[in-house]
Amino acid sequence: MQNRLVTDSTLQTPNGLHRRYNHVRDRIRQAEAGCRREPGSTQLLAVSKTRSVDEIRALAGLGQRLFGENYLQEAISKMGQLEDLNLEWHFIGRIQGNKTRQIAEYFHWVHSIASLKHATRLSNQRPPHLPPLDVCLQVNTSGERTKEGHSENELTELLPAYAALPNIRVRGLMTIPAPVGSESARRHPFQQLRILRDRLRTDRLPLDTLSMGMSDDLEAAIAEGATLVRIGTAIFGPRQYNQ
Ligand SMILES: *Cc1c(COP(=O)(O)O)cnc(C)c1O
Repeated sequence: MQNRLVTDSTLQTPNGLHRRYNHVRDRIRQAEAGCRREPGSTQLLAVSKTRSVDEIRALAGLGQRLFGENYLQEAISKMGQLEDLNLEWHFIGRIQGNKTRQIAEYFHWVHSIASLKHATRLSNQRPPHLPPLDVCLQVNTSGERTKEGHSENELTELLPAYAALPNIRVRGLMTIPAPVGSESARRHPFQQLRILRDRLRTDRLPLDTLSMGMSDDLEAAIAEGATLVRIGTAIFGPRQYNQ
């Protein structure tokens, strides 16, 4: 089930975008300062699913370079229209086995790897003229059956096989926790991911990336060591889907 893209961007005033973008960057800086992390140690991935090419172009004009997309055809169409901008594209959506070739051809990063079979296909299909595909392995920190991602035990077992794939580079871990209320409950899955990363990292596989935190919980994620937060709504405003 793919949501249809709303192309009408007249609801979005450029000033609103500028204001929200600055606000998100302030939140990140404050969160870094609040836990004595180095300013700039958290990268901002702008999640642009359902957003128009004009909105992405406007945000790129404000200095944003990393963009995350969930739906392959939508993403490829936008990339074609934004080729002149030299943006870095991250695939963060659910991977379908029959779509890996295009993901391997078009993207710089994939955050949502939850299957060794998919990763093997991505490695085999990565075009030889491109550098290895940077990836995060998705971990299910909430234990919900509906959520994608490896359990900690599964990941521990599979990590050597992932790391051995020649044309992908395992950069770290990613999680999408179930929404919860309290601040301490919010931090728990992020802490779990960091502890898992600390346990699995080695000199040869430093796992330097923790992809965690979205619009509602970026502070909690940064406090637990996120190196990259994935932010959509807080930058672009609420998403609008047709039907
Ligand atoms: C949509 C999405 C986001 C952004 O969510 P917001 O709440 O809009 O910031 C982040 N990560 C993933 C995997 C997403 O699908």
